[in-house]
Amino acid sequence: MTERLSPGDTVGILGGGQLGRMLALGAARLGLKTHIFCPDIDSPAFDVSAAKTVAVYEDEAALRAFAGAVDVVTYEFENVPARTAEVLVALRPVRPGPAALAVSQDRLTEKDFVTRLGIPTAPYRAVEDAGALARAVGELGRPAILKTRRFGYDGKGQVTIREGSDLGAIFRSLGGGPCILEGVVPFVKEVSVIAARGLDGAFAAYDVTENVHANHILSVSRAPANIDPACAAAAIAVAEKIAAALDYVGVLAVELFVTEEPDGDGRLVQTIRVNETAPRVHNSGHWTLDGAICSQFEQHIRAIAGWPLGTTQRHGAAVEMRNLIGDDVNAYADLLAEPGACLHLYGKAEARAGRKMGHVTRVFAPEI
Ligand code: AMP
Repeated sequence: MTERLSPGDTVGILGGGQLGRMLALGAARLGLKTHIFCPDIDSPAFDVSAAKTVAVYEDEAALRAFAGAVDVVTYEFENVPARTAEVLVALRPVRPGPAALAVSQDRLTEKDFVTRLGIPTAPYRAVEDAGALARAVGELGRPAILKTRRFGYDGKGQVTIREGSDLGAIFRSLGGGPCILEGVVPFVKEVSVIAARGLDGAFAAYDVTENVHANHILSVSRAPANIDPACAAAAIAVAEKIAAALDYVGVLAVELFVTEEPDGDGRLVQTIRVNETAPRVHNSGHWTLDGAICSQFEQHIRAIAGWPLGTTQRHGAAVEMRNLIGDDVNAYADLLAEPGACLHLYGKAEARAGRKMGHVTRVFAPEI
């Protein structure tokens, strides 16, 4: 089975959204072709790829044909069904491997895994039914956040439990399935680490990124994060530990909360807790397209191709990335006219509310 790709080989990508599209563009830069597998006929990634398969992820005949046409398989979303991964793993290298999917698909498995590595998270409890929820709320106190274990994103599948909240109604509102209850972390900042691990075990991380959300959706990312150097180093060390424990190959994102507490001398000390991981390129790493020597997309392709990792060094003193969500995209002409702004549009036809339509990066030169 192919370990290392050669220029001209084909990368198979499960998922055809903007992440798949930007991965395909990164692959093209390195002389690799891409083949996108996605059930949605209007996938943004189809526009920039040599080949496509339009089929559901459960279509095993389509998966086998896809595997036969590509040299390595990767994905742009973590909810790849376990059976889909199993079918593909038997036929082609799947990078990152299924262990990374299993950990990131289930918030409880993820928290248990991170905790076993000795890495702090929010306090949490498994919640299987309404009785377990009442006990967990008794232990963690209010407010607390109840999340579905699987298929949550952009704040969907989670509810805050406050004083007077009806626990039974809240549990039912999330579908009555397995959940996790988390204590609220009094964070001062949310940050993420975008890092990569190569086939040879090499590790490279970008500057820690500071993230601001609006309506539970990422709005703005800034690099480097305005946090203590020791805290930044600790965040990167956490990503390296997680990547090594998973024998990970590819780009990995780790979202973290930064808290501040006074030490014995009254000085504020910053500490980190992992919120969640994503076994893929990540929205908070889009700044690397214009703001780093090797973007997260090229980096992921290099890693899964078995090629040396690229340089993660930042251009400029700081970089800012703003998402263009829904109607924000209507400002494209002004952004095109703005000196220094780098506009990325994802080729989506309809600007629905909450839909990520593109982003803009601004690289700030050092002051002279
Ligand atoms: P998630 O989908 O888990 O990333 O949660 C979405 C957002 O909700 C996070 O980016 C935080 O702003 C907030 N959040 C989630 N979990 C917690 C927590 N345990 N404590 C404080 N804020 C949280």
